Amino acid sequence: MVDGAFDVCVSGSGAVAMSLALALSAEGWRVAWAKAPPPVNPRPDVRTYALNARAVNLLERLRIWPSLKAHATPVTDMAIRGDGEGLLRFSSWAQHVSELAWIVDAAALERLLGEALRFAPRVEVVPALQGTTPPVPAHLLAICEGKHSDTRAALGVGFDRRDYGHWGVAARLKASVPHHGLARQWFRSPDILALLPFQDPQPGASYGLVWSVPRERAEQLMALSPTDFEATLAQALRESDPEAAEQVGTLTLSSEVAAWPLALARAQRWSGPGWVLLGDAAHQVHPLAGQGLNLGLADVDTLVSVLRDARATEPWRHAGDERTLRRYVRQRQWPTVAMSTLTDGLLHLFADDRAPLKAVRNAGMRVVEGMGPLKHWLVGRALDA
Ligand SMILES: Cc1cc2nc3c(=O)[nH]c(=O)nc-3n(C[C@H](O)[C@H](O)[C@H](O)COP(=O)(O)OP(=O)(O)OC[C@H]3O[C@@H](n4cnc5c(N)ncnc54)[C@H](O)[C@@H]3O)c2cc1C
Repeated sequence: MVDGAFDVCVSGSGAVAMSLALALSAEGWRVAWAKAPPPVNPRPDVRTYALNARAVNLLERLRIWPSLKAHATPVTDMAIRGDGEGLLRFSSWAQHVSELAWIVDAAALERLLGEALRFAPRVEVVPALQGTTPPVPAHLLAICEGKHSDTRAALGVGFDRRDYGHWGVAARLKASVPHHGLARQWFRSPDILALLPFQDPQPGASYGLVWSVPRERAEQLMALSPTDFEATLAQALRESDPEAAEQVGTLTLSSEVAAWPLALARAQRWSGPGWVLLGDAAHQVHPLAGQGLNLGLADVDTLVSVLRDARATEPWRHAGDERTLRRYVRQRQWPTVAMSTLTDGLLHLFADDRAPLKAVRNAGMRVVEGMGPLKHWLVGRALDA
């Protein structure tokens, strides 16, 4: 056991690391936050995130939510179209919830978490890790370094990764017609296109775009001028769904276009003596269901609650106790495997262009559309990843 000045050293600079540091400090733990120096020429993060009810609940407890909500948009309806006649519609009214998700600004989320940490008690910023040794003594090393975690590698923990060969192209758009809180998604085989209703820059008529396309296509899209990109997007919408293209109106870029490589990945171990993995450092999923960060924030929520329970019932154990950490892993593994399997399965179902499969998947969507309890169950899982 380390006779540490700190209970936990949180390593990472993203939303998961910052939420964890804040949540632990609120619970009275002494936290060392090992963050990387800021990038020299940071590019603005143009992504919008769909956050579920559990993530919003955590941000409310961290007192981040009121400021984030001022620029967030509730999703009250969702329309998911297949590449044939398949159409799934979800509404908050039918599901008896006030909203299906909230769309937030990725950059604003990180900025607000960073600002809150400056005033958080018991949190000290320390230099980033070299190897696996925290720069200060701490009982637990919480690794939240994202998918390329060096510390995970230095610990010898394998990261099983399957590259999808697709990139997630993201941008912000202004629309000529209000969105009325409707999120739209098209499974177009091989690409998946989503328009998430948003507030900025034009209240009630802006979108966050997430367009998952094969890598070569992403490179072509990124090389287009703004006008050509808008024309290509408009054409893709008309091809997939002429009626919806009309309803969405004219879309104009209001940000630069950026892209991220997409993969399915999972660390072979999530905890060991004195260390634990959270967020993308532990698991990476396709953004088609908008669940990656939701899973990471659920990791934070679970770890904090497991540590709280252990401190209450077994106060002689320190935060890095392996048995306590295994409880966290047991609680998080199943929801993560379930979400990875769902997103991966959907992706493969729609990646195959053969006509019989196309008919079956679109018929399947119509069957699910008619099954109220199944839709209710699906929404329940998505709200509480
Ligand atoms: C196009 C796209 C759309 C998405 N949409 C959604 C969505 O709608 N909803 C959703 O829930 N999720 C979404 N996601 C997933 C989401 O972006 C990730 O799951 C989330 O960012 C993971 O957060 P993280 O903090 O674990 O990792 P990261 O965001 O990768 O942050 C890790 C940080 O730690 C830093 N770091 C690395 N090594 C060290 C070190 N040694 N010391 C200190 N710092 C270090 C890294 O530089 C990085 O800044 C989307 C992803 C993509 C690509």
